[in-house]
Parts: sequence; structure tokens; C-alpha cells
Amino acid sequence: MSAHFWNDAEIILYIIIAVLVVDNLWAVYLQIREIIAVHEVDQVPPVISPYLPQDLFNKMRTYKIHKCWFTVINTLLIVVFSGILELFFGFYPWLWDVATKCSLAKWMEHEACVSIFFVLLLSLYITLKACPGMLYEKLFIKALQERKHPPWLRRICREIIDTILAVIFMSLTVVSLVFMVLWLKEYTAVGLYVQSLLLTLLLILLVPFLIDPFVGKRVPLENANLRSDLEHLTDIVDFPMRQVHIIRVNDPNTPSNAFFYGSCCLKRIVIFDTLLLNRGHKDLSTLSPEEVGKGLRDSQVVAVVAHELGHWVHGHFYKAIFMFQFHMILMMCLFHVLFTHGPIYEAVGFEAGLQPIVVGFLIVFGFVLTPYLTMSNFCMLSATRHFEYQADSFAWEMGFSKDLRQALLKLYADNLAFPISDPCYSSWNHTHPTMLDRLNRLEKLQQRLDSNGT
Ligand SMILES: [Zn+2]
Repeated sequence: MSAHFWNDAEIILYIIIAVLVVDNLWAVYLQIREIIAVHEVDQVPPVISPYLPQDLFNKMRTYKIHKCWFTVINTLLIVVFSGILELFFGFYPWLWDVATKCSLAKWMEHEACVSIFFVLLLSLYITLKACPGMLYEKLFIKALQERKHPPWLRRICREIIDTILAVIFMSLTVVSLVFMVLWLKEYTAVGLYVQSLLLTLLLILLVPFLIDPFVGKRVPLENANLRSDLEHLTDIVDFPMRQVHIIRVNDPNTPSNAFFYGSCCLKRIVIFDTLLLNRGHKDLSTLSPEEVGKGLRDSQVVAVVAHELGHWVHGHFYKAIFMFQFHMILMMCLFHVLFTHGPIYEAVGFEAGLQPIVVGFLIVFGFVLTPYLTMSNFCMLSATRHFEYQADSFAWEMGFSKDLRQALLKLYADNLAFPISDPCYSSWNHTHPTMLDRLNRLEKLQQRLDSNGT
């Protein structure tokens, strides 16, 4: 056995366990910070008090604290404690052995087939392990939320259909991965990267054509005043007005939303009709009572579109694509080095020379790459949060600070959510800054301008 840790299975096992423990203790630390932050605020923040009654805030706060504690206990017991035992006592080689014994015919001994058995058994094990937690969550935590649940029979049918679809999807993925590695051998990482690149390109090309049938259908903007305001705004930054799409969403419960998407001739700003006051209807008789009065006034919609134009002006779509590709290339380079490295398999208990493909993916992406994945996730979240602030600043520069603040508050009132989050927890978990953070930032920008002006 070499003294060098890279070839020492025992040292690699301890490193993998240390990574598992440190990564999850960090997640637990963030959860505890979140609990403290939520605990400290027992009154609705004044800025949102007109929209969020104190008793609803109290209920949301209790739910949030309960849910955070549940996540802490679940992480420590199910992820850390059982994770250490599984790694230390060779659970994965044992399960692979069981999967091999499931092969009842000669053709089932092919690695692709054994891999499907392995993944099915592993999923069963994970589900059984998560059962007590899931039951507790359903019975005690979800009950705090007072949401309407569909009838039991429909829920059971839905669960069965979801499970069947998941098994089919998982089996196809496992088979395609196994054959890809068998065919491409040392070029697997290149193959995986090319596959992800093609998928990204396909999504960029297809999403504009998928919105219409699946989310809703494009409708003309009935409101002439709003239309001329938007034309004026898009003219200033030279964005084609024909690429501002109003979508009449199929599901009226779709959260009010607007987003910028795409590049070149496929670029567009999509506005769900739920964002518009009374869904953009002049005739209110077509709306359900709870839809009346929801949505933004014209000036607020223009402010939201100014924010979306900020994403376009600052090239956030290109930056996000570049960032993701950079992440994929780096990840595939690391994968290439680790995937074929025998001592990693020996570290979790496999005999020398036995390197099942599907277990390789599990160990590399599930354990060994954790430090890289955690850090890259943090960097990407920081970037997307920075993009949001930058787009807000753009709307502010265009003179929409007040309207954007009102729009954020109105959207908040329409889609009430718990408003408090610890800044550190938020920066490691959320793609967007919280609504209160965005309001504060806009306020500061305005104050700076006011103090410079006086
Ligand atoms: Zn945005």
C-alpha cells in the first residue's frame, strides 16, 4: 500500500467520511442560523404589515421553525449518521452483491441489468429509511400549513403513477449511462459534456415553443395605455416590443411572474397574465372572486419589465450559460480523474478491480465531488443573486424605483410567503434575494441619490 493518500483506500475512506460530515454540519449550521433569525423576529416587519396579518405571520413562523428543526434532525440522523455507517461497513458492495444475485437468467448478468436492480434496491432502501421522517412531516409539519389536500384516492393514484414513471426514467438513465461508459471508455467525460451541451442547446431552442402549449397561450395586450408605456420603455433600450409576450396561463393558480429568456432572435420577455391587474381583463365577470383585484397596476408592470430588460442589457442569459458551461467542464475534468481511480472503489469496500459503473457515478457525484459541488453551487447562487440586484439597479436607473418597490410589495401581498431569512442561509440556498433585501437595496439606492441631490 502506497503511503501517498491518493492510492491509499483507507485514507480515502476517512476523507470521504470527513467530507460528508463537514458538508452536512455546515448545512446544519446554516439551518440553525435560520432558526435563530426567525426566532428573533416575532412581529411582522412594518413594511409588509398592511398585507400580512400578525396571526398568519405567527402560523408561518411556527411552521418555519418546526420545519428547520426537522431538517436538522433528519440531516444528522439520516444523512450523517447512517451515511457514515453505510460507508464504513461496506453497504454499497453488499448491495451490489445482492443486485448481482437478482439476475435469474444469463442475459440478466449484463452490467446494465445488474445496475437497474442495484438502483431499484437502493431507491427502496432510501425510501424505507426516509419513511419515519416523511410520516412525521406529513402528520405534524404539513398539518401546520392548513392547505387543501386532494382526496386520498387521488393522492394514492398520483403516487403510484409518479413511482412507475420514476422507475421507467431511472432505468432508462441507468442503461444509457452504462452503455455510454462501455462504449466511450476513457472518453466518457467528453461524452457526458457533449450530451449536456446538446441538452442545453435543445432547451434554449425548445423552451419558446413549449411555453405556448404547456403553460398557456399568447394573447394580445388589451390595455392600450400599458402597451404604449411598454413600447416607450423598450424603444429606449432598443428591445423589440414584438418580443414582449403576454401569456394567458392555463392554471390560474400559477404564481404571477415575468421573466427574460433567450438570445438573438429567440429572446423574449414573458409576462404571465396573472401579473396584470385582473389578469388584464376589462370585463371582470369572467374572473373568479379571488382573482379580482390581484395583479399589478400599469406603472408597476412597466417597472417589472424594466427589471427584466435589466437582465437583457447586462447579458445575464449569456453569463449564466457561460457560467454553467464552465462549471460543467470543470466538473467533467474532475469526474474524468476520479471515475476510473480504483482506490476510491476499494475505499467504500469493493474488491480491487471491481468498479461497477453505476456505483462509480454514485460515489463520485454523491460523495467525492461534494466539496466542489457545494462551492460551485454557492458561486452560481451568488451570481444569480447579483444578477437580480443588477436588474433592480437598472430599473432604478430608468426611474422605476418607487414603482418597483410597490410592485414587489403587491406581488408579495398576492403570493404571501414567510418573509424572514438569515442572510448567510439565504446566500447558500436561494437563487433570489429575499423581497425585504430587495426593498432595502432599492431604498438605499434612492437614499444615496437623494443625499447626493441635496
Ligand atoms: Zn430578475
